[in-house]
Amino acid sequence: MTLSIKGDVAVIGAGIVGVSTALWLRRQGYKVLLIERDSIASGASFGNAGTLAPYGVMPIAQPSILKSLPSLLFSSESPFVINWARLPKLMPWLLRFLNECRNSRFEANSKALHQILQHVYTGYAPLLDKCPEANRRLSHNGCLYSYGTDAGFAGAQQAIEWRRALGIPQQVLTASEVDQMEPALGGKSVAGLMFPDSSHMNDPKAFIEALAAPLVADGSLIKATITGIKSGADGVTLSSASGETYKTDRIVVCSGAWSALLAAQLGDRVPLDTERGYHIEFDMDQPLLSRPCCPVENAFYMTPMEGRLRVAGTVELGSIKDPANPKRFDYLERHVRRVMGITAPVARQWIGYRPSLPDSLPVIGPSPNDPRVIYAFGHQHLGLTLAGATGELVAQCIAGKAPDWLEHFSVSRF
Ligand SMILES: Cc1cc2nc3c(=O)[nH]c(=O)nc-3n(C[C@H](O)[C@H](O)[C@H](O)COP(=O)(O)OP(=O)(O)OC[C@H]3O[C@@H](n4cnc5c(N)ncnc54)[C@H](O)[C@@H]3O)c2cc1C
Repeated sequence: MTLSIKGDVAVIGAGIVGVSTALWLRRQGYKVLLIERDSIASGASFGNAGTLAPYGVMPIAQPSILKSLPSLLFSSESPFVINWARLPKLMPWLLRFLNECRNSRFEANSKALHQILQHVYTGYAPLLDKCPEANRRLSHNGCLYSYGTDAGFAGAQQAIEWRRALGIPQQVLTASEVDQMEPALGGKSVAGLMFPDSSHMNDPKAFIEALAAPLVADGSLIKATITGIKSGADGVTLSSASGETYKTDRIVVCSGAWSALLAAQLGDRVPLDTERGYHIEFDMDQPLLSRPCCPVENAFYMTPMEGRLRVAGTVELGSIKDPANPKRFDYLERHVRRVMGITAPVARQWIGYRPSLPDSLPVIGPSPNDPRVIYAFGHQHLGLTLAGATGELVAQCIAGKAPDWLEHFSVSRF
């Protein structure tokens, strides 16, 4: 049976980006339908490292990657791997990515990230004001990078200088300052770097569910898989796998790594792919760390969460359809045991799909083919960080008040 539901704006996808966007639009007085095929925070938003990283101005596509790419890709101890069987399919994305590693592109992309990252907390503030439960789940005691080798710390100097030039708060630490701050890292680092403006949450899914509670309570959350988008003179019609249709004045595509299929229906070709990421968790009665810590050479975060330590990160280029790669779990486990001396068994494992564009910037803004369709996806390593700001920007787009700098994030850049 075909069911027809009407609303002002339909938001497709209830990850952190869709939930924040729906809340911003609801605040502006729109009747919002938040459409999710699974459950709230069931995609990348479920298993990330839980950090808000306003310091995250270094795009993954950067000049230093070009130099280290061969060793990164071919070493079995690398945090950055590729599924070679998928190379032919990945090639167009990889070539664009390599182009974005040039210095001039890196600088432009980093400055664009810097621009949007200034809105991390103002983007979340009105959502958190109304949600003590989400607020309770946030801690504001910074994020610590620890360097295990002199070469690792030497390799970080350019990024430190770049952040300094952009005015990003950061504090270089000696090895003993690292040990004082986080005794569990004792004796394993040669230096550290503290980002005091960073925050973390003790359970990303619970945080997002708390934010989404008013949408659930008023019936705005609908379970459906959107398979069709049609623009018409009188609005945008969505159709679902089970035959419902949803008619709205506007839609916002917040479907994470799955967004390109929907954008293609409007004629927008987006080079969106996924950087697969992993986590493992250890149950702990007492937290070993007081803030997210990143052993930089291993490229993962160890984040203290409610009753557990989550170890999350690494990048694997491959297909969203392939099963998890056990070697990636093994990599995380071996290195976290070495760095932290953990002997407890691994309690849980997870793979997730970061929605990633080759220039490390998200797409935020209207479709050139129909301005009633707004895109908000591709937040790669920074979706949790940028979700509040993204919701605010989408609301500004719809109100015709988007800032000029939003053009850096336009889908038309491809
Ligand atoms: C290991 C790892 C660690 C990370 N750590 C951090 C971190 O510390 N800080 C940070 O800021 N970011 C981090 N990230 C990145 C962050 O998790 C993502 O950028 C973010 O979750 C993306 O959110 P999203 O809402 O765009 O996508 P998702 O969370 O993937 O949500 C998309 C939703 O859309 C739904 N959907 C898709 N297609 C359809 C359809 N056709 N119909 C209906 N629903 C649909 C999906 O079911 C899904 O729920 C990390 C990622 C990983 C993998």
